[in-house]
Amino acid sequence: MAGRVLVVGSFNQDHVWTCAALPIGGQTVSGSYATGPGGKGFNQAIAARRAGAETVFVAALGTDPPADLACELAQRDGLELRAERVAAPTGCAAVVVDAEGRNQIVVAPGANALLTTAFIAAQDDALRHAAVLLTQLEIDRGAVRAALAAARARGVRTILNPAPADANLDCSLLGLADIVTPNETEFCALLSATGGPALRPEALIEIDDAELHALCRSVSAAIVVITLGAAGCFVSLQSVDADGRQYFRVAGLPADAIDTTGAGDAFNGALAAALAGPLADDFGQAVAFANRYAARSTEKAGAALAMPFLTPQPS
Ligand code: ADP
Repeated sequence: MAGRVLVVGSFNQDHVWTCAALPIGGQTVSGSYATGPGGKGFNQAIAARRAGAETVFVAALGTDPPADLACELAQRDGLELRAERVAAPTGCAAVVVDAEGRNQIVVAPGANALLTTAFIAAQDDALRHAAVLLTQLEIDRGAVRAALAAARARGVRTILNPAPADANLDCSLLGLADIVTPNETEFCALLSATGGPALRPEALIEIDDAELHALCRSVSAAIVVITLGAAGCFVSLQSVDADGRQYFRVAGLPADAIDTTGAGDAFNGALAAALAGPLADDFGQAVAFANRYAARSTEKAGAALAMPFLTPQPS
């Protein structure tokens, strides 16, 4: 029987303004407005759920209309939401996008910064039924550590998506992860955080596979999966797999991409779902599944609400 995915992470309400050109300091411009759910934790939890896994989402929320939105959306998707109610507004983000797709973003973490280790500890019953724990860096770091450590102690597989990029990350967190899933920018930040070479994200494409694998090994003892946008991803294993590979690429799939926002979240949620299901022992196939799912997620505008529905469970 497939196990559950437990996602510990952020929920934000995103407010998005679209205008011809980004305003400069002191300038007022007019544009159009839309709002919707976001936050890497929520996006990834919805992806895991829609990719076919029973999923529990643990997050901190305020007691305000965005918190009600989180509850309503979770219920609609059959996502089990375990919310710690804290004395802060629910997280939100102001996004301004221009006609070229360039953006300016201000995030107010609000409740996300107040998720407590005590609340994580109180989720032990959910951990007991989980096959995979997935978390990111948009919540209090103590909560990230507590979630990874509790999962480790229970023998639950752990995935750390080290996003957003943090060149000052406390690297001991990496030691609590079985799988680390940076995008190119986040991988360069991990290199900085671990005292490695200073590389620009655009430079990664030039690096040959053996060298990239060596860099991954220098960053973490975990399996490292670097997502490479339309180019797919690069996988660096701890030891050779059944096919005799210690590292390999999975090519990006053709997609009619109209909005790549949340593609990384789609990838992480789908990877967790695959590893909680019948692909638990076939990492290569689980990554291929995540790569397919993430490509499809780019074909619809939005993040959480653009995650494709796949039923039944991947096989
Ligand atoms: P992030 O959203 O964190 O920056 P990436 O841009 O690396 O993450 O995308 C994550 C995954 O989404 C990729 O590994 C790939 O599987 C898929 N993906 C992203 N952009 C495209 C695209 N244009 N075409 C096909 N697949 C894509």
